[in-house]
Amino acid sequence: VIFRVAINAPLPGLFDYLAPADWDTSQAAEGCRVEVPFGRSRTVGVIAGVSPSSEIPGQRLKRAGRVLDQSPLFKQPMLRFLGWAAAYYQHPPGEVYASALPLALRQGKPLGDRQLAWALTKEGRQQDPVVLARRAPRQWDLWQRLHHRADGIGEFELATLPSGWRDTLRRMADKGWVSDHPVAAAASREPVIHPGPQLTPDQRSAADQVTTSLGGYESFLLFGVTGSGKTEVYFDAMEAVLRAGRQVLLLVPEIGLTPQLMERIAGRFDAHLATLHSGLADGERLKAWREAASGRAHIVVGTRSAVLVPLHKPGLIVVDEEHDPSFKQWEGFRYSARDLAVVRASMEGVPIVLGSATPSLESLGNVQRGRYRQLDLAERPGAAVHPEIRLIDLRAHASTEGLSTPLVVTMGQHLEAGGQVLLFLNRRGYAPTLFCPGCGWTSRCQRCDAGMVLHQRQRRLHCHHCDTRRPVPVACPECQQPLAPVGQGTERIEETLGRLFPVYPMVRIDRDTTQRKGAMAEKLDDIRSGRARILVGTQMLTKGHDFPEVSLVGVLNADQGLFGTDFRASERLAQTIVQVAGRAGRAERPGLVLIQTLYPEHPLLTRLVSDGYAAFAEAALQERRESGWPPFSHLVLLRAESARMAQTMAFLEAASSLLNLPPALQCKVLGPAPAPMEKRAGRFRGQLLLESHQRQGMHALLAGWLKEIRELPESRRVRWSLDVDPIELF
Ligand code: ADP
Ligand code: ZN
Ligand code: ZN
Repeated sequence: VIFRVAINAPLPGLFDYLAPADWDTSQAAEGCRVEVPFGRSRTVGVIAGVSPSSEIPGQRLKRAGRVLDQSPLFKQPMLRFLGWAAAYYQHPPGEVYASALPLALRQGKPLGDRQLAWALTKEGRQQDPVVLARRAPRQWDLWQRLHHRADGIGEFELATLPSGWRDTLRRMADKGWVSDHPVAAAASREPVIHPGPQLTPDQRSAADQVTTSLGGYESFLLFGVTGSGKTEVYFDAMEAVLRAGRQVLLLVPEIGLTPQLMERIAGRFDAHLATLHSGLADGERLKAWREAASGRAHIVVGTRSAVLVPLHKPGLIVVDEEHDPSFKQWEGFRYSARDLAVVRASMEGVPIVLGSATPSLESLGNVQRGRYRQLDLAERPGAAVHPEIRLIDLRAHASTEGLSTPLVVTMGQHLEAGGQVLLFLNRRGYAPTLFCPGCGWTSRCQRCDAGMVLHQRQRRLHCHHCDTRRPVPVACPECQQPLAPVGQGTERIEETLGRLFPVYPMVRIDRDTTQRKGAMAEKLDDIRSGRARILVGTQMLTKGHDFPEVSLVGVLNADQGLFGTDFRASERLAQTIVQVAGRAGRAERPGLVLIQTLYPEHPLLTRLVSDGYAAFAEAALQERRESGWPPFSHLVLLRAESARMAQTMAFLEAASSLLNLPPALQCKVLGPAPAPMEKRAGRFRGQLLLESHQRQGMHALLAGWLKEIRELPESRRVRWSLDVDPIELF
C-alpha cells in the first residue's frame, strides 16, 4: 500500500511512501498525519490519499514512519476541497495542508482531544441477553445500552453511569464482545438561543430562502444597505442550523476590529463559540481548531484562514462583508477565502450566504449569470433613514489643512446639536511627505519607489511599504534649510481639529493608535458611550461598526481612488465611500455625508451620490464587460523580483517565451513589464499578466508552464510567485 503524502515544502505534488510494515488496512490513514523521512531529516505530512501502487519504482520508495492519528484530521469532502484548492491556485499541496493546521499539529504534536467510544462487536451482538441477564446482570445492563447504539457510546457519556462500569467494560472486552474506537468528542451542551427582533418582511423572506435551502448547496448574495439588518438575517438562519445540530462557519474580514459582532453573537446565542484569527497564541489556535473539527463548537467565527478549518457537521457558511479585500491572502498560498468558501459550501453540500452593502462586482456578476441568488434588503428597520450625500468642490472653497470651510461649518452645527462627527481619511501619520522649499528635496524611501511618511509624535519618517524607519531630519539633508510637512494624514487632522474644536473630545482610530491590546475596544467604547464627539480614522473605522449617534460623516479625500492604476480602483473607492457613509444616521438621527473632492463632476462620484451603489455597480460592470476585465475574464499574474531589474525582466521574458497558448483560448498576455511600484524593499519588481475568458482552458496550461518555469536557470536568480485571480496588479 502506498501513502500519498502532502509535505510542508515548496515543492509541487504529493510524495509517495510505502505504508509502515506494521500498518494494517483496517487502520485509518487518509487524512491522518504521518512521520516520513524527507531529505536528510524526518518530517510530518498529511496522508492525502492511499493507493495500491506508485509510479515510482518500488526500490526507490521510502517507508513511512508512524501514523500519528487514530482517526483522520481531515475527512472527505475536506480532503478533496484542500486538494482542489492546491490545484486551482497552483500551490504546493503540502503548504496548503499546513495552512489548514495549527502549528502544534503541523509539528506532529497530539491533537489531545481523543475520546474513545465503545461498541459491541459481532460476537458481542450474538450473546443471548436472557442468559447474560441471569449470569452477569451488570454486563447485561451495559450490553443493552450498547445494543441500542450502533456507533457506540463515548467515554464521557459512560462516565455518567454508576461507578464500576469500567470493570464491567473490561470484562466484556476481554471476551471480545466490545471494542473501542476513537471518536470526536461530542458537543458539550445544547445551545440556548435567545429571540432576536421581529424581522421585517424583507429580512424574513431572505432568511426563509436560506433556511429552506439548508441541507444542500446554494449560494446567496445578501445585498443589504448598511444598517439594513443583514446580521439579523444571518442570525435567523444560524438559529435554524444550530437547531438542526449543525455548525455554522462565519467568516469576517478582521475580528479585532469587530468586537461588536462578537458581543452580538454571544448575546444572541448561548452556544459554544470558537474564534480563529491571526492574533491567537498557538495554544488558543489549537484549541479553537479542535473545537471546530470535533463539532463541539456550534459557531466558528474566523478570518480568512478559517475557511481551511475542518468542521465535524457543517450546516451553513456565511461570509460577512464579502467585498473586503482582506479575504485574499497576499503571500505564500494566495487564495481568496471568499471564493474558497463558495467551493467548500458546494463540496460540503451546505448553503452559503455572502453578505455586503457593497457587493464585489464578481459576486454581482455571478448573480447575473444565475450562479448566486440575490436577496435584497433595501430599507433600514425602524426609524433609521438613509443618509444624504453631498459633494464639496475643493476648488471652490477655502480649506484649512485639508478641511474645507463648508465641512468645518457643518461640523460645528452637528456638534452643537449634540451629534457625533466622523471624519475618514485613508492615510495615517502626520503628513505623507516632508519637503524642502529651498531645493525641492522630499522624504523618499531609499529602498522603495515611495515617499516616507512623517509620524510627528513618534518623531520619525516611516516607509509604509518596507517598514524602514528613520529619525526626522532637523533640516534639509541637501541644503540645511528648514523642512515643511506637505499633505495630511490622520495625525495632522487630529491636531488641526484640536485647534478648531478644542472643547469636543476626540478619538483617532488607525493602526498607530490601536496597536496596544485592548486599545481598539476602549476607543470604540468611548465612541458608543458618547464620551468622544469627533472620530477621525482610516479604513479601520469603516468596517462593520455601528455608531448610532454619528450624524455627520466627512470623507476628506475621495480622489485617491478616482485615478488609480488598478482596474479595481473605482470599485474600491465606491465601496469605501458607501461603507463610511453607512456609519451615519443609523438610529434616530438623519445622517449627512460630505465628500471633499477636486473632481465633483466625475461620473463615478455623481452616479454613486445620486443613484447609489447598485446603480454604480451596474455601470461599472458594463464597463468591465466592454473592456474585458474580470469578472468577464480571468487573470493569472506571474510576479518576480530581484536585486536587479534586468534579472527580473530576463526571468519574465524567459517565462513568457515558454508560454504555448493555443489561439482558441484567446488568452491575452500583458507584459512582461515593470510593476507599477518598480522598487520595493530594495528589490526590483516586474510582472506578466495572462487574461482569458476561458478560465478552465487557461488554468489547464498552468501546471505544465510552472514546471518549465521551475527549470529555468533564470528562475534561480529571482523570487517569483504565481497569483491566480489576483486582486491587485502592483
Ligand atoms: P447590517 O448588518 O446590515 O449592517 P445590522 O444587522 O447590524 O445591519 O442592523 C442594524 C441595526 O438595526 C442594529 O442595531 C440591529 O439591532 C437593528 N435591527 C436589525 N434588524 C432589526 C429588526 N428587524 N427590528 C429592529 N431592529 C433591527
Ligand atoms: Zn533643501
Ligand atoms: Zn520603503
